[in-house]
Amino acid sequence: MPNPLYDALFKPLANRDTDLLHLSDGSSMSGRAFHHLILRYAATLQALGLKPGDRLAMQAAKSPQALAIYGAAVAAGIVFLPLNTAYTADEVAYFVDNSGASLLLGDSANADALQAVADRAKAQFLTLDADGTGSFTERASEQTGSFIPVDRGDDDLAAFLYTSGTTGRSKGAMLTQDNLLSNARVLVEQWRFTNEDVLLHALPIFHTHGLFVASNTVLLAGGSMIFLPAFQIDTVLEALPRATSMMGVPTFYTRLLDDARFDQALTKHMRLFTSGSAPLLAETHKAFEERTGHKILERYGMTETNMNTSNPYDGDRRPGTVGFPLPGVELKITDPTTGETLPQGEAGMIEVRGANVFAGYWQMPEKTREELRDDGFFITGDIGQIDEDGYVSIVGRQKDLIITGGYNVYPKEIELIMDEQPGVLESAVIGLPHPDFGEAVACVVVAKKGAELDTEAMRSAIKDRIARFKQPKAIFVADALPRNTMGKVQKNVLRDIYGTQFA
Ligand code: ATP
Ligand code: MG
Repeated sequence: MPNPLYDALFKPLANRDTDLLHLSDGSSMSGRAFHHLILRYAATLQALGLKPGDRLAMQAAKSPQALAIYGAAVAAGIVFLPLNTAYTADEVAYFVDNSGASLLLGDSANADALQAVADRAKAQFLTLDADGTGSFTERASEQTGSFIPVDRGDDDLAAFLYTSGTTGRSKGAMLTQDNLLSNARVLVEQWRFTNEDVLLHALPIFHTHGLFVASNTVLLAGGSMIFLPAFQIDTVLEALPRATSMMGVPTFYTRLLDDARFDQALTKHMRLFTSGSAPLLAETHKAFEERTGHKILERYGMTETNMNTSNPYDGDRRPGTVGFPLPGVELKITDPTTGETLPQGEAGMIEVRGANVFAGYWQMPEKTREELRDDGFFITGDIGQIDEDGYVSIVGRQKDLIITGGYNVYPKEIELIMDEQPGVLESAVIGLPHPDFGEAVACVVVAKKGAELDTEAMRSAIKDRIARFKQPKAIFVADALPRNTMGKVQKNVLRDIYGTQFA
């Protein structure tokens, strides 16, 4: 019986005696052993009463067992809903209630609170700890390990992945088997993954980047992963010489560059470094190339769409851009108010269409209608532009657009200039409530190690470079920008901190 996603990603592991996962304690797990876990867990899910189409929420530390739960859900036709391990029990309650999950897996350290969450939602609760033990795996050990994967079609749901909640409350994106599989196929081909690849996997597996972009691609190609619980600099430096490729968020790269031990010799065997989930500063891209000789390949995607664009594997990887639309992805730039396609070169709303685009937000028909057009184009909420060579760059998010005295200001334009100022490591430009202008442009700057920042000098340096209405009316110096686990700058947090400045 067909189950396209299972057949492509997991079934081939059944007879694979080579390692699939290399673990940080020096041990490893073969494809066959991992596949055995998947079938055992799938049988367990069935024994617990879960049926195809039911939801399984999991808030568990990254481990082979946690990844095998994903495989088991696919095999059993159960919709997989991984949750950020940083969420509190109250936050988990929202996802469990919202998704109608019938099973919640969580760490035994939070068992009391999570059991209460599950009870209120009439869901079952079992534990899965970082070391792979817990009441779920105990149940699984009672199973024989024989399981026949259930029949699935391309349009059947495989996962509900909740968005990161950077711009508002997280929304459950319904992802079908084909959304995931079509994108994995494109990425394997575009990024040249083969069964010889060893991916250094230090991303979390509750997010599209670590779960789908990284794991699905390697599984489809038949490669293996150095599967690290988190990005820990010593472990990563130690593992790099054994890897062929790494997928990271920009903070991985800045942390590597901050470490004097990170050098060309450590990356000699690498063929590919990719970056996404947040903008990679052109400066980081260049510094990385100077240090290692490798050009980081930046790509752009989101929970709702998987990957949309990528810089080329062969050819020019341009810093500050996210490359070209992937094969099968249509991308256009439209006027955010009229929806009309804009002339080439102008900044506007990025809209995308393709097999990668999700089926809608779970139980949010209105939100789905607002963002997913009848003709299949998804309104991403990201503002971007396409240059004359076809490279897409992201100017910012529509929700971060500042409207000051009736004028639009895209924070990125100002941030790029502020980043160039002496001693500035990074900056974030935000709009703050202002009695006259509606919103006022404000900028938060962070100093490079050991540098002193002179905000007055910055003001005069930018005076003749940008129109007056774009110039920050206040410049704040902070020790660091607030970021979430994926390295995204949380501008909502900054707006809360500095919000009353002009009020
Ligand atoms: P929410 O939708 O809940 O506000 P979110 O959009 O941050 O949260 P994700 O789906 O995790 O949730 O992130 C997708 C977003 O990440 C994209 O819409 C885009 O703004 C940003 N992003 C991803 N890759 C890049 C990149 N290479 N450069 C700039 N931004 C990127
Ligand atoms: Mg989003």
